[in-house]
Amino acid sequence: MNLTKKFILLTFDVEDWFQVENFKEYISFDSWNSRELRVEKNTHTILNLLDSFTFKPKATFFVLGWIAQQLPHLVKEINNRGHEVANHGNLHHLLTKQPVTEIIKDLKQGKDILEDIIGKKIYGYRAPSFAINNEILKIIKETGHVYDSSFNSFSMHGRYGTIDLANKDKKGIATEISDNFYELSISNLTIRQNILPLGGGGYFRLIPFPMFKLGMNQVLKKDQAFLFYSHPWEFDPDQPRVEQASKGFKFRHYTNLDKTHKKFESLIKKFKNLNFTTCINYLEN
Ligand SMILES: [Zn+2]
Repeated sequence: MNLTKKFILLTFDVEDWFQVENFKEYISFDSWNSRELRVEKNTHTILNLLDSFTFKPKATFFVLGWIAQQLPHLVKEINNRGHEVANHGNLHHLLTKQPVTEIIKDLKQGKDILEDIIGKKIYGYRAPSFAINNEILKIIKETGHVYDSSFNSFSMHGRYGTIDLANKDKKGIATEISDNFYELSISNLTIRQNILPLGGGGYFRLIPFPMFKLGMNQVLKKDQAFLFYSHPWEFDPDQPRVEQASKGFKFRHYTNLDKTHKKFESLIKKFKNLNFTTCINYLEN
């Protein structure tokens, strides 16, 4: 891995507004088929924004198998535009609440669907809601992935999982978990002993950009790389609203959706001198 250069890893979890964990209580799986699919248009917004820069930044898209089956041409387009397609599982299960057999099935199905569509090997996996643990990490490796990108060290969020990274070899933001298997952790800011959420998602929408940028620079100084995450629905202020959800969930999901596009554009502009690369290219660099 080249540590003389600095890298930005942009990652997107390609799922739709009705599949998020915050709304699971109110939107049954049986109703997914009747919901308005907005992910195609929103993913195009992201692809077009990336392509609007002359240096054509490359990103990684963790696509949900269920979405890929509805929209195989979208998966092909992400791949054709030079980005990495990776696995977000098939049905957006919260893995920490699933039996082992279901986890294996979901990971394999997601990977197989994507590989069939683009005719290429899929290397990476990201768990819904970053819910992983050491056992799930083993399954991710055993189902043929080369890396996982599900570890978010911010522990105040109830759903995020945790894994043991102590005594492992870390280069930049990649930790070698076992032979030829890596963890690419979500970037957060550590100030003394405290971990502040900075990787993206709702935190990117909430934190004013000048502060977010300062935090990114701190992380880049320490790790020489920054791993950012977002979702196509975060670029869609006009999505249908799930009014029956709790105030807290609605706040997390809907705050500042109308600002994501501009803020994200600013992020790329601000860091345009760094290397925007895919997860697998980062590992192979
Ligand atoms: Zn997800």
